[in-house]
Amino acid sequence: MNDNGIIFNQNAKKIAFDDEHYEKMMTRYQRFMYNVENCTNYYSDLNLEKQRALNIRCKAFKKLDKLLVDFDTNFSNNGGKILWANNSDDAKQLIYDILNQERVKRIIKTKSTTIDEINLTSFLEMKKIKIVDTNVGDFICSVSNERSYNINDSAAHKTTSQVADLYTEKFGIKENCNAKQLTVCTKQILKEDFNNSQALITGANFLISNTGTIVLTENQGNILKSSTFTPIHIVVAGIDKLITSIDELSVLLPLSSLYEPNKNISSLYNFISKPSTDGDNVQKLYLILLNNNRTNVLAKEKQRAILSCVQCGACSDVCPIYNTIGGHTYMECNPGPVGSILYPITKGMEEAAHFTSLCTSCGRCSEVCPVDIPLKDLFLENRKDLVKENKSFISERNFISNLIKKMNSRKNLDKMGSSFKDLELSYFIKKKWGNKRELPKHARESFSDYWKNINKIN
Ligand code: SF4
Repeated sequence: MNDNGIIFNQNAKKIAFDDEHYEKMMTRYQRFMYNVENCTNYYSDLNLEKQRALNIRCKAFKKLDKLLVDFDTNFSNNGGKILWANNSDDAKQLIYDILNQERVKRIIKTKSTTIDEINLTSFLEMKKIKIVDTNVGDFICSVSNERSYNINDSAAHKTTSQVADLYTEKFGIKENCNAKQLTVCTKQILKEDFNNSQALITGANFLISNTGTIVLTENQGNILKSSTFTPIHIVVAGIDKLITSIDELSVLLPLSSLYEPNKNISSLYNFISKPSTDGDNVQKLYLILLNNNRTNVLAKEKQRAILSCVQCGACSDVCPIYNTIGGHTYMECNPGPVGSILYPITKGMEEAAHFTSLCTSCGRCSEVCPVDIPLKDLFLENRKDLVKENKSFISERNFISNLIKKMNSRKNLDKMGSSFKDLELSYFIKKKWGNKRELPKHARESFSDYWKNINKIN
């Protein structure tokens, strides 16, 4: 196992037996399951709609080369400027060049996994450019100097009282504020940044090829507010965000907010087709189109379905592994099942093999996914690739080949007594099983001995 895997295991062990953390995650889980039960009322056939969504996205991946060229042409004709980035370093440099050229020293940003993927915040801070998160959850994480905990709810790990304590410590506000008061406080704190920022950086939910339109969804109104007044808008989006036409959004957008408890507040949709040219409010619009190994994912016929993800966070909410080890243990911007499927492909097995084992095959993620991504099957595909690439762990390989040999012959299986089998099991997997759990013991009497005894066979 490489260093990343070792650190991951150490962190996972620390948090997995933290009862307080588990209780917090279970409260979230129960709240989420309540939303799951209530969402089916909106559809006559939810499963069919989910399949339609996956179909739309997978068809787009098949003709992505054409969609990208069409989008580039239409977006440029509309007055936007498109820049292509092969990896995160390219993307950061392109953004820095724009900011430098425009003499920008102050930026606001909205929630985006793609922006986090390229580590833009720390890069710009190093370049002495102030970058402020306007999404409340992201803002809380940046104040406490932490990563996002969940792709859809960055501060999912914090209780209201923990946020209130943090605000009292950092901003001197009165103690024990409730959630509503804390939201008002955040808006007050961010007001100056909203008013004085020179540029806005966002991600994108979809890119419509035949009109060159960027689609951004939100539920806090930050994008709407800031994209109207900020003179420069830079969008960072993966090449996988392309769809063919606006009609497809009638399927994709409602499913993106399927589990939102209040459908009315989760439906702020921003469609940006061209930079604003109204009166004094002339805007410059840039789009950084990022590959960053997405072509490796697209090359995998089965696993490419993961790029259809609409980042609702549902699969994390139901994942027993995510709920046990929490979002920070993943040490990545995309914690939970989605990242665990993506990273072995985008970062390579050498660096990210440990993600392939973060699945119990319970299948709950696949059941709740609003766009029908067969996440459980994709984990298995990655495991197959791991074995094909011969990157599986040596102890596991030895254990499995030994097990297969024995299982193929009842005589071999029964050759040794139960105590020896316990010892053997302990030797191969005790380390992985962990000290806090007892390994199951073999039955003192094997099944064949038991069968012979009850049937009086010699
Ligand atoms: S894989 Fe599906 S359930 Fe998970 S975040 Fe993406 S869209 Fe939501």
